[in-house]
Amino acid sequence: MIEIRNVSKTYANGTKGLNHINLTIGQGEFVAIVGLSGAGKSTLLRSMNRLHDITEGEIIIGGKSITAAKGRNLRMIRRDIGMIFQSFNLVKRTSVLRNVLAGRVGYHSTLRTVVGRFPKQDVELAFQALDRVNIAEKAYSRADELSGGQQQRVAIARVLAQEAKIILADEPVASLDPLTTKQVMDDLKRINLESGITTIVNLHFIDLARQYATRIIGLRAGEVVFDGPVSEATDEK
Ligand code: ADP
Ligand code: ADP
Repeated sequence: MIEIRNVSKTYANGTKGLNHINLTIGQGEFVAIVGLSGAGKSTLLRSMNRLHDITEGEIIIGGKSITAAKGRNLRMIRRDIGMIFQSFNLVKRTSVLRNVLAGRVGYHSTLRTVVGRFPKQDVELAFQALDRVNIAEKAYSRADELSGGQQQRVAIARVLAQEAKIILADEPVASLDPLTTKQVMDDLKRINLESGITTIVNLHFIDLARQYATRIIGLRAGEVVFDGPVSEATDEK
């Protein structure tokens, strides 16, 4: 599903974010990427969706090179990748429903769908997505009226409405309390098991990784220092 071949990323100021990374991630895996702050977790995730360009190497998503893709081809590859961020990245002053419908934008070419009415089947999909994270009753609330955990579930619903095949979650629970953390991680895990959606989650704490992931990748200073099943991940970091 995802192949990362000899990938390095050096930032404009000379900082090395990633140093010759090689990884293959199969469909349906639930992978946790762990490491201390500055290890390169976020750089790796952002590289996969090409939120920034890499300096060296190539990344293949579903058999297609996202590194080489341009224009429409790049958009098509990105359609399969749903992003979840620490800070939720919802449109604050807009309804929950409309935020989830934003996952459908790109399936229609017109701007109308951003500001105007969506096709009925998209609205149905959005409600189904909200149901799957148990938050459909908030559909008409403003996104910024929700708690952090609820907002993160809306972000998950947006990815579901997008019908993404891959979820990239960059420290999705870093700003949540323990109870809410459990709810959000439970949702991600359940969706992974139900839909076989490939899930890659950056986590600061290895305990959470052990609890939810089937494979742990440890990064340090932009390099892979551990890659294996949870049972073999001891005190790596
Ligand atoms: P993590 O997500 O594990 O905390 P990052 O991927 O954010 O790590 O950072 C990896 C390295 O790249 C760090 O040394 C960080 O300071 C550096 N870095 C991240 N983003 C930038 C940037 N935009 N410009 C320069 N250096 C950056
Ligand atoms: P707005 O008030 O900006 O229209 P809403 O969150 O109420 O935002 O709805 C977003 C869009 O979803 C609507 O413009 C419409 O296209 C669609 N929509 C909302 N509710 C329904 C519904 N019950 N049936 C069909 N479409 C709906």
